[in-house]
Amino acid sequence: MNGLDQQQYEGLLAALEQAQQHLLAQVEMDVATADTSLQQLEASPSDNASKRVLHQLVQESAQHNSQQLRVVRHALAKCGEGSYGLCENCGEAIGYARLNARPEARFCFRCQSMIEKHPPH
Ligand SMILES: [Zn+2]
Repeated sequence: MNGLDQQQYEGLLAALEQAQQHLLAQVEMDVATADTSLQQLEASPSDNASKRVLHQLVQESAQHNSQQLRVVRHALAKCGEGSYGLCENCGEAIGYARLNARPEARFCFRCQSMIEKHPPH
């Protein structure tokens, strides 16, 4: 059991779906911006480094957002499997307080801090 009541679960599910919508829109926008900045780069290759830097920033943002999107989708898939709210490491309930702050959390607080201290290689 994930320790969530129906109302909490539905609220978290709605938050995840909203995050997914938001990230999808964000990634689309990043891709469009990256295309434009790349075209500008190619149109005037001699032009300054600032466009290059901007392009890199947009790409990094796109990467970050699409990674975040994967995490959110992963959480939504766990909802589908009925394993949402359970730590993927120890199988214990993650807990509502933590999920409320981070609906996409994959690990309980204890496992998360262990993983952060000893990141897998
Ligand atoms: Zn755990």
